[in-house]
Amino acid sequence: MYWEGEKECINRDALKQLQLERLQSTLFRVYMNVPFYRKKFDEIGIDPDDFRSLEDLSKLPFTSKDDLRMSYPYGMFAVPLREVVRVQASSGTTGMPTAVGYTRNDIKNWSHLVARILMAGGVTQNDIVQIAFDYGLFTGALGLHYGAERLGASVIPISGGNTRRQVKIMQDFKTTALMCTPSYALSIADTLIETGINVNSLSLKYGLFGAEPWSEAMRQELEEKLKIIATDNYGLSEVMGPGVAGECLERKGLHINEDHFLVEVVDPETLEPLSAGETGELVITTLTKEAFPVIRFRTRDLTSLRTEPCPCRRTFVRMNKVMGRTDDMIKIKGMNVFPSQVEAVLFEIEGTEPHYQIIVDRKGAIDELTVLVEVSESIFFDQVKKQKDFIDLIKTRLSSELGISVEVKPVEKRTLERFEGKAKRAIDKRKL
Ligand SMILES: [Zn+2]
Repeated sequence: MYWEGEKECINRDALKQLQLERLQSTLFRVYMNVPFYRKKFDEIGIDPDDFRSLEDLSKLPFTSKDDLRMSYPYGMFAVPLREVVRVQASSGTTGMPTAVGYTRNDIKNWSHLVARILMAGGVTQNDIVQIAFDYGLFTGALGLHYGAERLGASVIPISGGNTRRQVKIMQDFKTTALMCTPSYALSIADTLIETGINVNSLSLKYGLFGAEPWSEAMRQELEEKLKIIATDNYGLSEVMGPGVAGECLERKGLHINEDHFLVEVVDPETLEPLSAGETGELVITTLTKEAFPVIRFRTRDLTSLRTEPCPCRRTFVRMNKVMGRTDDMIKIKGMNVFPSQVEAVLFEIEGTEPHYQIIVDRKGAIDELTVLVEVSESIFFDQVKKQKDFIDLIKTRLSSELGISVEVKPVEKRTLERFEGKAKRAIDKRKL
């Protein structure tokens, strides 16, 4: 099922033409209305009138998070504030926040694009949607909310946190679709088990998760524990919010709404464009945004593109699940380590809980990586020999996956922090 079938299954040649026309108009608007872009275009000699081919995309300047921060709050807006009907902000976890704005038309497009993603993930107007993202300046909750309403689903705007209440509402209101971060979905699943609630007594069918990287193993765990079909969706405040890309029920990559976003994957060091299948940093140019267009925005998210046709018949290219952010990447002993790699290994080992923390420290001149892992009681309290063998097994598997030696420390169940929003898995003591 499609929300906008004609657009989602558009012929690729027609799509390219549409993208070019929309890009030309975006370039013209940012040149006229955003001093930052006018200056950059003038510096490298780009005249929007001369821009004739998508092949020339790589000649355009990048936009970084820092560029947006420097222009905080309204410097990058391309319309006067009287045309802006909503202001949101990025979470600001890594420093100063970024403010973004929407015209009435931007909100309309945003709602449609989210409705597409929700329907691709199985949600229809018959569903009861529980939105367990925090409502507020962060775009996650409101973006999904408007999209789900546009679709005609019944929306429960419960916001994040208070897990027992989430479960109670789920039981009472017969929620069929849950939307939150995957790590919070796991907390909800654990609460079901702890409180002895049989998941079969719930009405859940779908989970639409996003806002942080998560592994295939995590998907399996969530699907089994919550008895749902779990899909991944992707978006970021600087570009729009949720609705940029989302998985169809094939669950083999996220279809990017390419009629509204032009994507590239580049090498994060050299910034050279990479081919389909190669992993690098995702770069996005908005094609229809009025209030807050961005040109070649560096998302810091690492992924690769899949161009082979999808059985669902949508023609938009897919991006693989984001494997991490360039910021989350831990550089240790010359290797790049992502929390998602640790997670995937732990899921495969019977007796570990998918709750873990990564600690990087420097002893003398040598960097050390330690992983704290929650283990089930039976293993924790068993004979010493058995416990040692078990820890050695985790060590060996992690070391071979990451390509460096890893220390493993078992901790008892429920001793590591639980997350109601985005999980923070790694502590880098070298930077403290
Ligand atoms: Zn598909």
